Amino acid sequence: MRIVVLAGGIGGARFLRGLMSAVPEADITVIGNTGDDIHLFGLKVCPDLDTVMYTLGGGIHEEQGWGRADESFAVKEELAAYGVGPEWFGLGDRDFATHIVRTQMMSAGYPLSAVTEALCARWQPGVRLLPMTDDRVETHVLIDDPDEGRKAVHFQEYWVRLRASVPAHAVVPVGADQAKPAPGVLEAIAEADVVLFPPSNPVVSIGTILAVPGVREAIADAGVPVVGLSPIVGDAPVRGMADKVLAAVGVESTAAAVAQHYGSGLLDGWLVDLVDAGAVDEVEAAGIRCKAVPLMMTDAEATARMAAEALALAEEVRA
Ligand code: GDP
Ligand code: CA
Repeated sequence: MRIVVLAGGIGGARFLRGLMSAVPEADITVIGNTGDDIHLFGLKVCPDLDTVMYTLGGGIHEEQGWGRADESFAVKEELAAYGVGPEWFGLGDRDFATHIVRTQMMSAGYPLSAVTEALCARWQPGVRLLPMTDDRVETHVLIDDPDEGRKAVHFQEYWVRLRASVPAHAVVPVGADQAKPAPGVLEAIAEADVVLFPPSNPVVSIGTILAVPGVREAIADAGVPVVGLSPIVGDAPVRGMADKVLAAVGVESTAAAVAQHYGSGLLDGWLVDLVDAGAVDEVEAAGIRCKAVPLMMTDAEATARMAAEALALAEEVRA
C-alpha cells in the first residue's frame, strides 16, 4: 500500500511512528512543511523536516518532541557570549551539525530535496521524506507590535519568541504562490492509494503544504481516499497554540470546524476524539465521513491504533 502523509513537526512525526508500526510493509511518502524554515546564524534550519527525520530515525528528544536527544548547548552559549542572537530559538550542538551540513550542501547548489535525502541517508527514517518544495517559502504572521504597530513577523518569532501571546491578524505563506512542488511530490500523490492528514497544525503545517500550487489539486484529483485526524480535542489543541492561528483564518477551534475548513472537496474522512463524538453529525452533514475514536498519542500502541482507524475509514469511504 502506498500512503502519502502531509506532515508538520511533532504531531506529524508522532503519528508517522504509529502509522509505520500499524502497517510496517507500507510504502510511505511524507510531504513535509517547509514554511517554518528559518535562517539563523547563517544556517538554514528546517524544524519540521528535522522533527520528522529525528523522530523516525531515533534521534529525537522524546519528552520535548523536537531537537536532539542528549543535547548540549555550548555553541549557543558561546554565541550569546558574543552577544549574537536570537537567544529565543533553541539550537543545540548536535542539531547545529545538521544545519551546517544542510547549508553547506545548499551553498554547493544542491536543492533542499536532495539535501534532505542525504541527511536521511544517515537517519534512515523508513519513509521517503520530501520537502513540499525546493523553493523558499516563509510563513509570516501579521501582529500588532506595541512599538511598531501592525507588522509581519516570521512564524518562528510569533510561535517561539512571542509564544503566540498576541492576536494573529493573518498568516501568510510568503513565496508559496510562486513555489513549485519538490520533485516527487505530485508523482507520489498521483500514485498513492491513500492520503492522510495527521493531527498536524491545519493552518501553519498542512495549510502551508496545501498552499503550494498544484498540491491541493493533485490530492483532490487523485481519486483516492483522503482521511484526516483532528489536532483539536475538546475544543483545544492537544499541544501548542493552533487555536491562535485558526482564529487568524477565521476558523473556530473545534474538531468539526477544522474538518469543514479542509472541506468535502478535499477530505473524504475525518477522525475526531471520543470527547468530540457530538461533532460527528455536523461533519457528516458537511459531506465528510466521520468517526469518533481515541485520538491521544499517549504511547506507541495508542498511536498505532489511531493510524489503523484512519486506514479503516479510508477503506470505508473507498467502498
Ligand atoms: P509542529 O510543527 O511541531 O507544531 O507539529 P504539527 O503541526 O505536526 O502538529 C501540531 C499539532 O499536533 C497541534 O495542533 C496539536 O494539537 C497536535 N497534537 C499533538 N499531540 C497530539 C495528540 O496526541 N493527539 C492529537 N489528536 N493531536 C495532537
Ligand atoms: Ca512546525
